[in-house]
Amino acid sequence: MKLELRRRTLHLTEPIVTSYGEIAQRELAIVTLSGEDGVTGHGEAAPLPAYDGPDMDRVWSALESYVAVAAAAEDSGPMAGVQMIEACRAVEDLPEAIAALDMALWDRAGQRAGKPVAALITEAHATRVPVNATLTAVDRAGAAEQAARAVADGFDCLKVKVGVGDDAGRIAAVRAAAGQDALLRLDANGGWDVEQAVHAIEALAPAGLELVEEPCHGLTAVREVRERVPVRVAIDETAGEPGALAAGVADAVCLKVSRCGGIGPLLAAAALVRATGAEIYLASTLDGPLGVAAALQAAAALASRGPLPHCGLATLGLFEDLEDPLAPREGAIELPSAPGLGVAGF
Ligand SMILES: [Mg+2]
Repeated sequence: MKLELRRRTLHLTEPIVTSYGEIAQRELAIVTLSGEDGVTGHGEAAPLPAYDGPDMDRVWSALESYVAVAAAAEDSGPMAGVQMIEACRAVEDLPEAIAALDMALWDRAGQRAGKPVAALITEAHATRVPVNATLTAVDRAGAAEQAARAVADGFDCLKVKVGVGDDAGRIAAVRAAAGQDALLRLDANGGWDVEQAVHAIEALAPAGLELVEEPCHGLTAVREVRERVPVRVAIDETAGEPGALAAGVADAVCLKVSRCGGIGPLLAAAALVRATGAEIYLASTLDGPLGVAAALQAAAALASRGPLPHCGLATLGLFEDLEDPLAPREGAIELPSAPGLGVAGF
């Protein structure tokens, strides 16, 4: 198999402010995996070290070390993909880099079968995945304007970063602009300690909240917050802690293809979380088209096996230099009909 690497940078139309810093652009490592059968699959890594995980240098060097492994790998047979992943993992076990390779293998498998990746996982996959709008403005008026526009565009779930500036005023303005029916999801990115989280969530709860994601970092802190607040709590960054998936500390767990190390490990993680009674939903970390497409395919498959709260995948429209191949319509993203990941050409 031939593994080729290239880089691409995407720029956000407006920098995004979070409790862990400001993001203005995203660097992608794009992998292309070709077999002797002439079928090509694509995958992507979009490391975001300020948020979690390794930086691009580390991911890139891991991917470079996989090139020789891929060259020695067989490109057909029932276990070929699994063996290649295992061989790469033996060289450098980095989930974000392994995930890029895993995506390319799924994409290739879908191309060969003439089916979307979701259909390789289950015939009963959803054909559209409900997604939240992400409100990026940190001022009241700007956030209210984005909320009104999102609702007018058909979104029924709005996500707002908190732990940044005047949360109370911004959330009240968003609720007023969005109306009473919209779900409001907050994400603190672990920017609060337990006491701050309890205080803030109690103050914000009267606005009507679907859930608060990652109020604090760490299983112990999240468990305590969840016991003390009248709002559902989800973990995101903390889901990467050892033992987090089955810990039962949260009402929902946000899963990411990159952190899980690919679509296959994400499906296993989802089953584990659901077995504890918690819900799962998927999100991108402002990934590029291939990363979002991989999560969309997995989400479409998982929607057939249990409740799936809105996913955080409507993020490609935030880039100024990209024509969004997965643009949401009426608050959901349609599964592409093309085989594989469904977004060829990136
Ligand atoms: Mg989050």
